[in-house]
Amino acid sequence: MKGDMYIARAADKDILKIGENGGAVTSLLKFALESKMADAVVAVKAREGNRYDGIPVLITEPEKVIETAGSLHCSSPNIARFLTEYLDGASSSKLAIVVKPCDARAIVELAKRTQINLDNLLLIGLNCTGTLPSAKAKIMMKEIFEVDPADVAGEDIEDNVLTITLKDGSEKKEDLAKLEEQGYGRRENCRRCEINIPVMADIACGKWGTTNKETTFIEICSDKGSQFAQAAIDGGCITIEQPSAASIDDRNKKDKAAIESAKQWQEKDFSRLEKMSSEEKFSYWFTQFHQCIKCYGCRDACPICYCKDCFLEADRGYIPPGEIPPDVMFPMVRIAHVMDSCVNCGQCEDVCTMDIPISLLVFLLSKKVGDIFKYEPGMDVTKLPPLRTTTDKELTLSGVDIDFEP
Ligand code: SF4
Ligand code: SF4
Ligand code: SF4
Repeated sequence: MKGDMYIARAADKDILKIGENGGAVTSLLKFALESKMADAVVAVKAREGNRYDGIPVLITEPEKVIETAGSLHCSSPNIARFLTEYLDGASSSKLAIVVKPCDARAIVELAKRTQINLDNLLLIGLNCTGTLPSAKAKIMMKEIFEVDPADVAGEDIEDNVLTITLKDGSEKKEDLAKLEEQGYGRRENCRRCEINIPVMADIACGKWGTTNKETTFIEICSDKGSQFAQAAIDGGCITIEQPSAASIDDRNKKDKAAIESAKQWQEKDFSRLEKMSSEEKFSYWFTQFHQCIKCYGCRDACPICYCKDCFLEADRGYIPPGEIPPDVMFPMVRIAHVMDSCVNCGQCEDVCTMDIPISLLVFLLSKKVGDIFKYEPGMDVTKLPPLRTTTDKELTLSGVDIDFEP
């Protein structure tokens, strides 16, 4: 049932050999296809063995699931966007999909906007404390770790240390904070991310709370997740044991430490902006926005920007024919449209060729909106986005208590 926790590992010997942390996630995905509980699996795979090039793949044959075994920290595919762009928001087939917390949150937000059919999705969440920008990660491997990026067989972030495992089995470690001071390490939005365990998914899987590298800690987060996990256990796909109180405590402590680290990054990044006077803020952001080349990159990457009929398109009439819109218009319109539901995935900033710190600003504003409306994007499918609430009834559903009398 919801709230149950297990220490799990794959029953299949081949998956055990290749899979990370006991291969439980790979086994569950394979089971989803074999049991026909899913028509297809969406997971991430290294393109031709290049772990800096992780691509979302759609798999329908159970024996191919093993190709997605293992975590890739140096790529951050846009899973929610993949789902809406190519898979019709899961409206016509049942999918088991592997998600990071930010992917799951974007999916939840899109489900509220009827862009994704959650009934057809089984969200298998992975704990996450950050992903690294692919190109910079390769440079970091060469410059800091002094290894050939192609020789890296795995990465791991634990206790503020980035460990890489080489193909010969040896390991190298670097202090994550030091790397980040040097401009390497995690994507900037990831440093500020405080949702590490994907409790909004159907099941949340990760290594926290395990005592070795051969098991996965699983938390059941929904009734659907419970039914699926029970079927997988009954079907002999994974073996389980109950976690000890010490395991659960260890997992909670690691989560708390990661949240604390994210809050410190938020404080650092936000206070730099908050300390500015109104004039300085205006000048800073307008200087940033003036660099915008109106490429549509941020809009097209943002999973929350879902409007088919977008204000930024010339044929909407917002931009008169023959006129070029002002530079600042793109980021400002977009920010206004998504700031109640930004899930801090960083996809907008990843694609911005002008390096405008868009996700920093949207996240900051979304936090402010969230504080006012007691709303945390992507955490609860029953809570409506605050800026969509226009009636007293909807505001009550959003948990907002505002006196509208003048
Ligand atoms: S934003 Fe959060 S969940 Fe998403 S990749 Fe970064 S750390 Fe992971
Ligand atoms: S605005 Fe940026 S960070 Fe926020 S949801 Fe959209 S792409 Fe992600
Ligand atoms: S990605 Fe950057 S340059 Fe392109 S429209 Fe967005 S803010 Fe402007």
